[in-house]
Amino acid sequence: MKKLKETHVPYNTGWAGELRKGQVIRVLATTTVDFVAFRLDNLRERFDQARTKVYNMKIFVSTGDKLMGRDNQHMMTIMEDLNKDGTHDLQKGMCSAYRFQLAKQEGRLREYYPREITDIPDHGCYENLSKALEPYGIAPENIPSPFNLNQTMKIDGVTGKMEHTSIRPKPGSYVDLRAEMDLLVALSACPDLPVGGKPVNLMIYEP
Ligand SMILES: [Zn+2]
Repeated sequence: MKKLKETHVPYNTGWAGELRKGQVIRVLATTTVDFVAFRLDNLRERFDQARTKVYNMKIFVSTGDKLMGRDNQHMMTIMEDLNKDGTHDLQKGMCSAYRFQLAKQEGRLREYYPREITDIPDHGCYENLSKALEPYGIAPENIPSPFNLNQTMKIDGVTGKMEHTSIRPKPGSYVDLRAEMDLLVALSACPDLPVGGKPVNLMIYEP
């Protein structure tokens, strides 16, 4: 594959860019990355968590699985997934300033996160993705709940109870996603409160 682009996304910031059909985005990260996709020629058609879970008939997707759009179109295929210790999440939305404040106000930070949190960030993935997608005319309320890369959740199959974990990929781990249509994609280097966020690197390849 020929490398077309390489970008560093600092801690708790966002990035957006275009992918042509067949191009591959490699997301290198050791923490959670909130990832969304929109059809480039119709930005109202966007990634859909529920469609993705039902198409693949599972809640944890990995190599060979597809990300689906709201109209049940194949948007992306996971070509390679080096996160072997954990899983990716399709249950959660985006963290945000208000979400952190609410958890703090309600005294529930410890319930949500498996470590002591002293300082809550003043923004999160909602603000990062909103800012990154603003130049494309996408309003914050039209950003779908993301594909949360590397966010390993413990989910009880009987009760449905969810817990955050501190399981994250080892350095050098990445996920390759191939565009199955021309896309606008965006991601946020999550502040990842369960473990503490890190920057993210991405590369775009052409076959
Ligand atoms: Zn986040």
